[in-house]
Amino acid sequence: MQAQPTASHFIDGAYVEDAAGRPFESVHAATGETIARLHAATSGIVEAAMASAVRAQREWAAVAPAARARVLRRAAEIVRERNRALSELETLDTGKPIQETLVADAASGADALEWFAALAATIAGESVPLGRDFAYTRREPLGVCVGIGAWNYPTQIACWKAAPALACGNAMVFKPSEVTPLGALKLAEILIEAGAPNGLFNVVQGFGDVGAALATHADTAKVSLTGSVATGAKVYSAAAAGMRHVTMELGGKSPILVFDDASIEAAIGGAMLGNFYSAGQICSNGTRVFVQTGLLDRFLSRLTERTRAIRIGDPLDPDTQMGPLVSLAHREKVLGFVEAGRREGARLVAGGGVPKVQGYEKGAFVEPTVFADVTDDMTIAREEIFGPVMSVLSFETEEEAVARANATPFGLAAGVFTADIARAHRVAEALQAGICWINAYNLTPVEAPFGGVKRSGIGRENGRAAMDFYSQSKTIHVCLGGVDSPY
Ligand code: NDP
Repeated sequence: MQAQPTASHFIDGAYVEDAAGRPFESVHAATGETIARLHAATSGIVEAAMASAVRAQREWAAVAPAARARVLRRAAEIVRERNRALSELETLDTGKPIQETLVADAASGADALEWFAALAATIAGESVPLGRDFAYTRREPLGVCVGIGAWNYPTQIACWKAAPALACGNAMVFKPSEVTPLGALKLAEILIEAGAPNGLFNVVQGFGDVGAALATHADTAKVSLTGSVATGAKVYSAAAAGMRHVTMELGGKSPILVFDDASIEAAIGGAMLGNFYSAGQICSNGTRVFVQTGLLDRFLSRLTERTRAIRIGDPLDPDTQMGPLVSLAHREKVLGFVEAGRREGARLVAGGGVPKVQGYEKGAFVEPTVFADVTDDMTIAREEIFGPVMSVLSFETEEEAVARANATPFGLAAGVFTADIARAHRVAEALQAGICWINAYNLTPVEAPFGGVKRSGIGRENGRAAMDFYSQSKTIHVCLGGVDSPY
């Protein structure tokens, strides 16, 4: 099994290698096989990427927005034409099942390229009448934007950052997580093929130190990070020193509230999607499932039945519903949380162990796991696990559920399941989250803004809102009379 790229980095329209950089490997998490060997960027690589992005950005900012849109639209078409190959690569790089990557990774990246192409053509300022004078505003690019990605949705993250950045006339230097280095390189190839100038989207590989070097580079105007809250705090403060713009898409511990009157199958389906899709490695997952006491027993018994029926196996098999976690190291962390759940008195009702997957004994698999009788103070109810571990808690009243749901430093997402339309909207309004789903969970169409409040982040990706985070307003005041000066 091989997925070796031509070289580690993609700079100024071409693959580039610098073997002096720290070597690392991409490992297929289902088998433990090495699928690619790469090198982290040296400072020479970082400088080359930044210099070429600075050059490309000047050229690109002068291109009419409608012409920029044509490049992004063409890139979206190519991504869709190659969806199968890109999805297989994503499955090898991340371990996620092909059933998911075919519909949720490159496909959602193509949606972003297409949507921001459409918005590029609508970029406009406003005209401000001032009596004798007038002013007008221009929406201008920021310059060179740095994108730093997490490992759970590597291709989607690269597209969600590159598409609005490029639409607004910026260039981007992107650093994938070293755990999943491959998808972003394909996006770089595709953008060149679609007509983007050399250097407009560069990919440099590396660890946190490369991310830090990019985030603090003198030519960096903005940093957009998808990662943990701890990394976000570091990158945000590093960016602040240079007064750089930021978008921070960080972690969460999101609540799902299930009321007695909810459709039980829909609520269980939502809770399972919000805990088991991508083996639970999704930032917006609803990992605290609050169920009203009248529904609790039925909810738990049907949830357990449906959870035990999840098909775990080879992620390249189209029938597989859950693949391995991204790495054995990450599995150790997740199993540590499962152990904490048991130790602190939660009741294990499904999973909790390492499944036997014949032929894949070296894979980083974990059983989909459900804990009942979870209380708010338990570690599994407070910390982000980033694995297939659902905590079910019970509640009596709406007021109590909302207060407990909000009692967390995170605020990325939330869900409410109820048949009462007034309650649905009341609760959605009261929940402290950047996105709240009613009778659904984890839907992220590109048309709707996505991002967190509280410690889960700053700024928004997707939607029209993203355009504001990749551009800045300039006011031009036009004086039509003489200068009225007291001097
Ligand atoms: P990390 O925070 O560990 O890393 C994120 C990225 O930042 C990686 O590319 C990492 O490089 C890089 N990095 C690490 N340290 C620094 C630094 N000091 N300066 C600049 N860059 C740095 O996250 P994970 O990759 O482990 O991803 C999981 C986390 O991401 C979870 O908390 C999850 O909730 C969050 N996430 C948030 C999403 C959202 O949209 N809100 C979506 C997906 C994930 P390296 O890998 O080498 O350490």
